[in-house]
Amino acid sequence: MNRRVVSFHYTLRDPQGRVLDSSAGNPPISYLEGAGQIIDGLDQRLRAAVTGAKTRVQVPPAEAYGERDPAQIQRVKRTLLPVEGELQIGEQFQTGPDRQAPVVTVVGVEGDEVLLDGNHPLAGVELTFDVEIVDAREATAEELSHGHAHGGGGGGCGEGCGCH
Ligand code: ZN
Repeated sequence: MNRRVVSFHYTLRDPQGRVLDSSAGNPPISYLEGAGQIIDGLDQRLRAAVTGAKTRVQVPPAEAYGERDPAQIQRVKRTLLPVEGELQIGEQFQTGPDRQAPVVTVVGVEGDEVLLDGNHPLAGVELTFDVEIVDAREATAEELSHGHAHGGGGGGCGEGCGCH
């Protein structure tokens, strides 16, 4: 089967029903199937979804952000952290200037040392997506060669595409 570009709206909830994220009020998310643009477990489960479909998709941690790994909690010297001011438990920051840099969560402050959890904030969490498919069409040759979805009508790369 040909790979498609799918545009959808979603509301993401955790197992307690709390809304973690939603595309409401924003343009729909577009992705190229199998390109890693959205989490794999959601990509796989939307393969049969057609334009206009509304569906609830549950994705186990292993196919979303992975299981929690206790070895990812590290003790570091406070002075080594690129963050000013007082650190709060639960505070999150990126470990580098790169937009893709891993996010860590402060899970403890002990004297001049800080305990940082390098697990993704959604590691170990089963995700429930309520999805509405806005559009599903065949990918263009250009999209296939770039490995990602382009704007609504297949009209070229968006800002920050990074493929040129
Ligand atoms: Zn592109």
